[in-house]
Amino acid sequence: MNSASVTRFADRLLRARTALEQSSVDGVLITPGPDLQYLIGYDAVPLERITCLVLTSVSAPVLIVPRLELLAAQASPVGALGIEVSTWDEADDPYGLIADALPAGSGAYGVDDRMWAAKVLGLRGAMPHRPQVVAGAVINPLRMRKDADEVTALLQAGAAIDRVHAGIPQILRAGMTEAQAGSLIGELILAEWHTRVDFVIVAAGANGASPHHEVSDHVIAPGEPIVIDIGGTMPGGYRSDSTRVYCIGEPDAQYRKAYDCLQRAQAATVAAVRPGVTIGELDSLPRQILAEEELAEFFIHRTGHGIGLETHEEPYLMMGSDLVVEPGMAFSVEPGFYLPGRYGARIEDIVVCTNDGVVSANNQPHELMCLN
Ligand code: ZN
Ligand code: ZN
Ligand code: ZN
Repeated sequence: MNSASVTRFADRLLRARTALEQSSVDGVLITPGPDLQYLIGYDAVPLERITCLVLTSVSAPVLIVPRLELLAAQASPVGALGIEVSTWDEADDPYGLIADALPAGSGAYGVDDRMWAAKVLGLRGAMPHRPQVVAGAVINPLRMRKDADEVTALLQAGAAIDRVHAGIPQILRAGMTEAQAGSLIGELILAEWHTRVDFVIVAAGANGASPHHEVSDHVIAPGEPIVIDIGGTMPGGYRSDSTRVYCIGEPDAQYRKAYDCLQRAQAATVAAVRPGVTIGELDSLPRQILAEEELAEFFIHRTGHGIGLETHEEPYLMMGSDLVVEPGMAFSVEPGFYLPGRYGARIEDIVVCTNDGVVSANNQPHELMCLN
């Protein structure tokens, strides 16, 4: 691992410990998943034997691992970071070891938001008098503000999924099923640098009215709007997520009019992203514009979600939120409209707030893509 990466993880650990000092919890227990990957770069697989980073504000971090995982742990950035690794053997009680690594007392501790319930309860058994809270209260505010490396990774993920969208006109044909189109798009996602396909939504015609429709045996017909929302994971763990709407031939005039309104709403919302704007303002802006075409009531979800080591993470662009947008926050802007039994549409870009405005990770044309 190069020294820049060591510095990056050391900085994150320092910020986490500072956040812990300012919080009311004695420590956080981080198990394999995005928080562990974020804090120490250890991309461990969650298994029945517990691996746990014990992070407190008063002592050095300790990674507690089953003995058989020791070499894997040391091969990760953990070794270069100089984090103490402590092992447990098959007959040991790992929960007791973890309890001993927390500061003594009866204070609350945070458990990883993604910790398995069996482990949460195992810890409760070892520390029956200490309250458990979610570690996300301490960790999510850090992950929400991306550092320079993370912004670069998200821009690379955006460029990669843009190349997939750029290839879709060569794939889509009338007469193929959504599932056939989806499997070809999945291959293209892997060909464009991603290590994993996270989701492929190909929603033609009335299927477009279901925001999380995936694919079906529906045969794509000329004139049907096709909502294509795709995303995957890049080698460093960062995610892509982008939606565009396609059509073989032309949709009807009413759809065209509605789509043009959606495009204005999405563009205005992206343009409004800057430090100081609130999340609530960003959520309401596209609703105001969609109301001009009486589409607001058909926009049935939040305007967007944060993205990073997970596709959906904080901040969530929710109505009424007074969270203030800061440089480094990265999230989707994805207004849509969904008319049951008829059709749907969504336009989605990942954007990053900069010191004085916004940069978009997705830069494919936003127009309805009509193919011959
Ligand atoms: Zn979604
Ligand atoms: Zn999204
Ligand atoms: Zn999406």
